[in-house]
Amino acid sequence: MRYIEPHAHMVSRTTDDYLAMVTAGCKAVCEPAFWAGFDRSSAHGFYDYFCQLTDYEPKRAAKFGLPHFSWLCINPKEAEDLKLADEVIALIPEFLGRDNVLGIGEIGLNKNSRNEMTVLEKHVNLAAENDQLILVHTPHLEDKFKGTKLIVDMIKSDSRIDPGKVLIDHVEEHTAKYVMDAGFWGGLTLYPESKCTSARAIDILESCEAERLWMNSACDWGVSVPLAVPYAAQEMRRRGYDDETIDKVFFKNPVKFLSQCANFTVRG
Ligand SMILES: [Zn+2]
Repeated sequence: MRYIEPHAHMVSRTTDDYLAMVTAGCKAVCEPAFWAGFDRSSAHGFYDYFCQLTDYEPKRAAKFGLPHFSWLCINPKEAEDLKLADEVIALIPEFLGRDNVLGIGEIGLNKNSRNEMTVLEKHVNLAAENDQLILVHTPHLEDKFKGTKLIVDMIKSDSRIDPGKVLIDHVEEHTAKYVMDAGFWGGLTLYPESKCTSARAIDILESCEAERLWMNSACDWGVSVPLAVPYAAQEMRRRGYDDETIDKVFFKNPVKFLSQCANFTVRG
């Protein structure tokens, strides 16, 4: 099979993971800016991270023949400090011209706080001003529906933003329809612990319109599975879906969304 990994934090992964992904049919990997597992102490830490995402990591992936793309932002977990957030957001424009940048992400909410909302609005404004795609992280567990609703309502209220150029990630049973009914794309994240299994993801896929949906592993420095996407494809195969439908979900859908950014190219 061929597939796109649209959300993976590869700076935290090993070269063995790159090899396994390419062997499984991965044609491109996309890496949103994220929390490092610890809070960075200054904007300089983000500057270095953005260099890593736009320069070093694409070169590392290229050694395995895998095109690497990235998204830039200050993640919601570090967005409580408004001064730091302003300093980091001010760094982003100079990186938007780099070859592998897809847009602004993964922005969003973590605890649905007022400061997180403020920083989210600043990122959305940055995307609007620079005509960028947006990738949104939604909070986990009990905060998910409330946070997703806050995000959807806020972005919908900005007339400069085309919902077709925004993907709201980590949707679940109770948020997928809400996101897609509002015109956005949705992302299903396959987690080994506590969250979305392959079977659950395919159940959700079957319950909503699969036209604007992608799946990702969101693998990072924690317990996660870099091959979760092809594993989910295997679950579709087990349920009797044909190759064409599987190719649409795991390759054509993400390619359609990502191709709205001129920097994204992929060889089938
Ligand atoms: Zn992520």
